[in-house]
Amino acid sequence: MSVNLLDFDAKGLAGFCTEIGEKPFRARQLLRWIHRSGEADFAAMSDLAKGLRDKLSTTAVIESPRVISDHAAADGTRKWLLSVGAGNGIETVFIPETNRGTLCISSQVGCALACTFCSTGRQGFNRNLTVAEIIGQLWWANKALAEASDEVSGHDRAITNVVMMGMGEPLANFENVVTALDLMLDDNAYGLSRRRVTVSTSGLVPAMDRLRQRCPVALAVSLHAPNDGLRDQLVPINRKYPIRELLAACERYLESAPRDFITFEYVMLDGVNDSVAHAHELVKLVHRVPCKFNLIPFNPFPDSGYRRSSAGAVRCFRDVLMQAGLITTVRKTRGDDIDAACGQLAGKVHDKTRRASRGLMEMAR
Ligand code: SAH
Ligand code: SF4
Repeated sequence: MSVNLLDFDAKGLAGFCTEIGEKPFRARQLLRWIHRSGEADFAAMSDLAKGLRDKLSTTAVIESPRVISDHAAADGTRKWLLSVGAGNGIETVFIPETNRGTLCISSQVGCALACTFCSTGRQGFNRNLTVAEIIGQLWWANKALAEASDEVSGHDRAITNVVMMGMGEPLANFENVVTALDLMLDDNAYGLSRRRVTVSTSGLVPAMDRLRQRCPVALAVSLHAPNDGLRDQLVPINRKYPIRELLAACERYLESAPRDFITFEYVMLDGVNDSVAHAHELVKLVHRVPCKFNLIPFNPFPDSGYRRSSAGAVRCFRDVLMQAGLITTVRKTRGDDIDAACGQLAGKVHDKTRRASRGLMEMAR
């Protein structure tokens, strides 16, 4: 069986080169062809010897997950549904903004952590994505977006930031995610700065410590509640790693983090966690941790049992945090006309034009 070279970071590729009897420095050339040029055809890698190209064609492939569908929202958001085999689908979302373009990447098929307001959590856990499937989302999106922008302006890469905020809990797929992060940061691959790559976690404390040691990138933590009683209900992993331990891990993380704050994500659920009293409790809770808040209006999915907080409630909540000196943004809901908003991935599937996606998702359940 062929080896998929998207599975390797620089070190892995050097090992592969040695294995096939080539000098390890060939890895650098290969890495650049694969990730900087987006090349999948060994025959086109003109500065590699013909013998090596032939050898690669018989032993290796460069293969990202297959695209099943491609949706563009009115606001420019793009969403790709990708097949990862056996009827499993994952989603990748590109969000263009004025000065940056963010790719939101999935790390697992489904998720075992079962947060009650999350559509991916409702699906349950299916499996971890491989390195090739994780980095393949960036590899693919870069190519797809380059084609689009070449047509318009011949512009540079459209993706300036990556957030691990798609389907799955990235820190529950630690090794594969870290290898993919290595590639995102590698100058011979995507060359993104650590500040522009964000891992979002629901709070797997030991893995937060490992990430700090292995590959400190920007960190977002899904807090969602100002006390353990409520967080136990919304984010069940809180029963294992309660808020006190989580915040201590955040403080430790900041010692090595590329940014001097943690981003706390807080989904706004009507009548559940969105009162002014909750906001005051939150201010007290986080007073030791340098942080910013990102309030996410709940994105509904069928039978979720939750409603989105009103705009007024979100404003009052934000004002309390701001008055306490906490920088707080309210996440704009992007791409919700194509179900690409947070927590909607692989969720609602409705009309006939999306039959392919419905088939996949139903099989995935
Ligand atoms: N598993 C990681 C990353 C993926 S979820 C985590 O939980 O952090 C990315 C963000 O979307 C998290 O903050 C998550 O809590 C939030 N989210 C999940 N479901 C949502 C929904 N239905 N509406 C709004 N945000 C949601
Ligand atoms: Fe998993 Fe994150 Fe969804 Fe929780 S919010 S179920 S951790 S993907």
